[in-house]
Amino acid sequence: MPYSVLVEPGAKVDLSSIDPNFDAGLEKDAAKKLTKALGEEMAELQELLFATGQNGLLLVFQGPDTAGKDGAINQILEFVNVQSTKVYPFKVPTSIELAHDFLWRVHQRTPAKGEIAIFNRSHYEDVLVVRVHELIPEVEWRSRYKRINEFEKLLADSGTIILKFMLHITPEEQEERLLAREKDPRKAWKLSVNDWKERENWQKYQTAFEDALHHCSAEHAPWHVIPANKKWFRDLAVSEAIVSALRPYKESWMAHLAEVGVKAKAELAEYRLGRK
Ligand code: ADP
Repeated sequence: MPYSVLVEPGAKVDLSSIDPNFDAGLEKDAAKKLTKALGEEMAELQELLFATGQNGLLLVFQGPDTAGKDGAINQILEFVNVQSTKVYPFKVPTSIELAHDFLWRVHQRTPAKGEIAIFNRSHYEDVLVVRVHELIPEVEWRSRYKRINEFEKLLADSGTIILKFMLHITPEEQEERLLAREKDPRKAWKLSVNDWKERENWQKYQTAFEDALHHCSAEHAPWHVIPANKKWFRDLAVSEAIVSALRPYKESWMAHLAEVGVKAKAELAEYRLGRK
């Protein structure tokens, strides 16, 4: 398999058949080198995305607690120009947010043309945690798959390139990470009883994830399941998916810039002539 599992539109996903320890037979050092090279390409492609201002890039990160959303996002931030990149964490909705439709808070944070927006959790919480904890009736959260699809189609039709990552870990790996937090004084602040309580819902979350992946993977907004037990492989798989999604735009972005460049040079030449 390539580095991640791309969910084909409409395909059913069985998360238990995807190995979170998968590493494509790579050693850590080799994977890191590959990631670095992809990072350089990502930086180049982002410059084109910014300069042309024709597309935005939306990266959505979901996964169980401790799956590595923060780590994966930090890795991307090492590669891209942060001046045109924004990261948005989505927490328990505020009362104002709850007084609106569930996409309201998300829509305000989608990327403008030329920008990258990274979602740490997202509108998918509204079919994950909301479903697992039965915060609203089933008929309501079920209707959200269609709403999410329509919303993402609107974004895509407006030039947004969308990629969604489900960071896939084992419950054993999660337990290790939670225990490691307890031992590390610099990480203990992250401890929360809730993370342990949520482990009891592990299977319910997996099922909710499988449904979200099944209902909401589209050509224009694909889900990638990222084997994430090994952090260095997770970073490689995410980088590879981003670069592969942006590469096809390169030629048309370059052509656009060349056109803009010709126009700008002509204007400059005219200005210089006028000053003689
Ligand atoms: P982190 O993302 O680092 O785990 P927190 O520990 O503050 O940050 O967790 C954010 C919490 O907000 C999660 O438990 C998540 O399920 C919850 N959350 C996010 N979006 C929603 C939502 N729409 N409805 C209910 N809870 C949500």
